[in-house]
Amino acid sequence: MSYEPDPEIKRKHEEFMIAKKPAMHFAQFIRAIFRGVVAVFIIGMPVNHIHDRSAAASSVSHAGPIHPVSALLKYYGQYIQEIEWTENDIVLHLEKGSIHYRDGKMLNRENLEHEDRFSSIFYHYPTSPLKEAIEKPASIARRSDDFYKMIFGETEREIRKHCREIRFLHRMAFVNTLCIPALKQVEAEILRQAEENPDVASFVKNIRILYSFKQKEIVGSQNSSFHGYGLAVDLVPRSYDKKHVYWKWSAVYYKDWHRIPVQQRWSPPQPVIDAFERNGFVWGGKWVHFDVIHFEYRPEIIVQMGENGVENVENGVGPS
Ligand SMILES: [Zn+2]
Repeated sequence: MSYEPDPEIKRKHEEFMIAKKPAMHFAQFIRAIFRGVVAVFIIGMPVNHIHDRSAAASSVSHAGPIHPVSALLKYYGQYIQEIEWTENDIVLHLEKGSIHYRDGKMLNRENLEHEDRFSSIFYHYPTSPLKEAIEKPASIARRSDDFYKMIFGETEREIRKHCREIRFLHRMAFVNTLCIPALKQVEAEILRQAEENPDVASFVKNIRILYSFKQKEIVGSQNSSFHGYGLAVDLVPRSYDKKHVYWKWSAVYYKDWHRIPVQQRWSPPQPVIDAFERNGFVWGGKWVHFDVIHFEYRPEIIVQMGENGVENVENGVGPS
């Protein structure tokens, strides 16, 4: 597969890395301010949609095309030490090794030799509220999480070091520090909505359990998921109103579980979904393999919503 580096994108990446280096020596807060500046001016990102003052902190922009690697630099820049353009791919050098970007695939050296087994980590995510069930593709290729593994580690011990306990919607959550500013913003937006929207207020009041970091779903296991990195939350309500919740549960009774109409699936109120999406989270209810209580932090996907920065996307397909 040929790869032609786009000089313009390459230049932006170089500028990002040059600008990043001196900033490494500054105090943490200087770095935070700096990253904001980088995001807006240096990567050439479109300026964030700023709906109101409080939403400005972590709101994820949806405007204009952004190269997938630029999206990664924007949100994971703190973990990326060097960036290198080779004939075949873009190599991101992290503290623990290198990840090769090739057509949206993010692979370590070993998996790069079997790249055909993997698909892009950037999948199409529908921007608007879900109206009908998404068509199930014939086959779903595997997505490698080499990139996240290399950043956050593979053992519970390693990953826990990246996590911290916070309060979220009156419950405790143990989450990855990477997504805490975004979660705080989501919470503020939901609580503000709850003041005027009874559905949202009742949703918040009726959260029975909040699952965040799940040891059982630790990376590398069969059920590997973003819970294993502390980058996902499940908001479990007191009642599902006899509706469908999770594709695997429904698949026990329904061969065509993926055709179950959206109206028969449980859903958080739309303003809740919107608040998560605005801040870089995807909702599991929009996956073919639906999981309606699940939100996970994928700003690199959300920021590309509504444009064609990624090629060969699988329409609306999430993780299985
Ligand atoms: Zn979940």
